[in-house]
Amino acid sequence: MDIIKNYKAALQELYDHVGFREDWVVLPIDDRTDMFWRINDNEDKVVYFFELEYLPIKDGDEADRGGNFYSDEIYKQRFYTEHVYRGKDYTMIMVDTHTDGNRFFAFYDNKKEVIGDSIQNIETTEKFWDCECEHNYIHPKTTKDCKLCKAKQEDSIISEVIKQGFKI
Ligand SMILES: [Zn+2]
Repeated sequence: MDIIKNYKAALQELYDHVGFREDWVVLPIDDRTDMFWRINDNEDKVVYFFELEYLPIKDGDEADRGGNFYSDEIYKQRFYTEHVYRGKDYTMIMVDTHTDGNRFFAFYDNKKEVIGDSIQNIETTEKFWDCECEHNYIHPKTTKDCKLCKAKQEDSIISEVIKQGFKI
C-alpha cells in the first residue's frame, strides 16, 4: 500500500469536490464538519462556527456568545481570486485563525450552514427532492425521476430550494 499515493488521491478528491485548483500556496485541511457555521453577511470576511446551542439568532448577536462559538477571518490569499469554494456537500473556506500562525483550508458541511435568521437551511421540505447530480439536483415531487443520474428521491433542504429559485 502506497500511503503517500492514497493521501494525495484523497486530498485531490476533496479539492475536486469543491472545485479548488492548487496554486502556489497550499494550506492544511481542517475538518469542521461537526460544527454549524455562518459567513458574516455584512462584510463577507468572517466565518463563525459553533455548536447548535450557540446558534446566533440575528446579525450582531455573535459578540456576546460564550462557549463553543468561534470566528475566523476569511483569508484573502493573494494567489487565489476565490476564498470560499462551495461543493455539493461541503464548502472549503480559506481561514486565518490569527493564533500561532495557523491558517487552514477549513471544510464545513453544507447542511450545517446557517443563513439569515433561521436554521431553515437544515430543515427539509417534502415538496422537493435531491438527485445525485452535481448541478440542477433539485426536483419538484411532481417529477418522478432524474433522467441523468436515476437517483432515488431524497427530501431537499429548504434553503437550497430557495437558492435554486423555486418557491416553496
Ligand atoms: Zn440527477
